[in-house]
Amino acid sequence: MSESYRILVARLYHESNRLNPEATGEARFLVERGHEILRSPSGVFKGLTGTLAAADAVIEPVFSAGAPPSGLVDHVFYLRLREELLDAVRSMKPDAIGLELHGAMGTTATPDAEGDLLQALRHLVGPDIPIGIGLDLHAHVTGRMLDNTDICIACKENPHSDTVECGQRVAEFLIAQLEGRLNPVTVSAFVPMTLPGAQETASGPLAEIHAKAREYATCNFSIKDISIFNSFRFVDNDEMGQVVTILSDGRDSGTPTLAVDLAKRFWTERDRFKDDFLTVDESFELVQNSPEKRPFVIADMGDRVLAGAPGDSTILLSAALDHYPRTRGALTITDPTAAARAGEAGVGASVTLPVGAGYTPGFRPRTISGRVEHVSDGEFVLDGPFHGGEHSSMGQTAVVLVDERIHVLLTSKPAYSHDPAAYTSQGVALESLDFVVAKSGYHFTLNFAGRATPVLANTPGVGYYSKGQFKYSKSRFWPEHEIPVPEIVARQHSVCASQNPVSKVSA
Ligand SMILES: [Zn+2]
Repeated sequence: MSESYRILVARLYHESNRLNPEATGEARFLVERGHEILRSPSGVFKGLTGTLAAADAVIEPVFSAGAPPSGLVDHVFYLRLREELLDAVRSMKPDAIGLELHGAMGTTATPDAEGDLLQALRHLVGPDIPIGIGLDLHAHVTGRMLDNTDICIACKENPHSDTVECGQRVAEFLIAQLEGRLNPVTVSAFVPMTLPGAQETASGPLAEIHAKAREYATCNFSIKDISIFNSFRFVDNDEMGQVVTILSDGRDSGTPTLAVDLAKRFWTERDRFKDDFLTVDESFELVQNSPEKRPFVIADMGDRVLAGAPGDSTILLSAALDHYPRTRGALTITDPTAAARAGEAGVGASVTLPVGAGYTPGFRPRTISGRVEHVSDGEFVLDGPFHGGEHSSMGQTAVVLVDERIHVLLTSKPAYSHDPAAYTSQGVALESLDFVVAKSGYHFTLNFAGRATPVLANTPGVGYYSKGQFKYSKSRFWPEHEIPVPEIVARQHSVCASQNPVSKVSA
């Protein structure tokens, strides 16, 4: 019976963009501990803990540590969290471990923090304690992560509308494994390519690959999960690419073939993974010429905070001020110095100050003049549905109204502008505007649904991949490099990897 199972749970969530020059230290993380973290969890963690509770497992919560996507995590801080988790395992001696990890966390010392963490956990508990993790599908999943987990699965949708279900499945698989109803075996297939575009799962080539995966899972009763990882593009190590994993109950001689088949579809379809963005001017012309669709929400693809960019671009601000004098809008710019200056000046004061471009190489600050209309500590709660109900912090924030028409939110930390509450919490009413800017490429469409018309703008920055823009020293992948037709093979992953190294399986 599951009542007696003691399951240790924790959450460590960060998507690390190595192109962002600012390291992410402890101050950027929200770290909560103990039973507190079960009170209002969201996403994978909610599904995981809710399902364990419903199964009468005894949940032993350790910590929930998460920060918005940003630069590489300070390694010393990561090591402290790792030791805290290992200490908790030593003292609690759980029957199983369930984690929510992002899967694309890198530190200032290692590009594969999750692999390091899971290897340390496995080394401590040995092969007999199940370890199950639920990941973002943009995980940079590595052989080390797969070798050191029993259950390693991702959510399936981008934008991520199914994270709770992902956590539920991790919990169900852990319980089934503990009860002897599941013998999880994972095979994976890797393709050395990234997706230059077309990353949404509801349409285009990704939708077709997911449909084929569902068909395979339906027709093969041993298959419990097929996860398709669209590797985060802003890491640099030798395992950068698309990964398909199949989790089956016991070894299944058919799954290597299916994993390879799905992986090969990426390569075959690679030329279709393109985005169809508007230029900055096309975006504003659409805003001007389609009043019936206002307000618009313009995705600043290059400065996507949700991909770890700093949020300090002034490109859209300058375009709106210089070329579209009739548009009314709002946008966020990360600039702690300007936020402090405007805050000190106080509500009602007139200010002239340079803003933005403090982090991203090549960006230029913009001088604005306007009236401070709101000052706050920048704390707010996301409307959702993506991460709905979660607390978020922009740090000290000041809103400057420029030209009586553009609300510039100067924030001390990168803002989660993919959610309308970033604006409404600062007194900015969306319905009075022609546009707002979201520094997000996908999830903003969930959170602004019904409230604004989405537009994807092709802007520069470290939040969007374009060939040749950055130097990759370890990674070799299409389209950045000339890649001959790759040999795509299935690999079988074993929790006893140290005794039984990852084996290639011919498909
Ligand atoms: Zn993601």
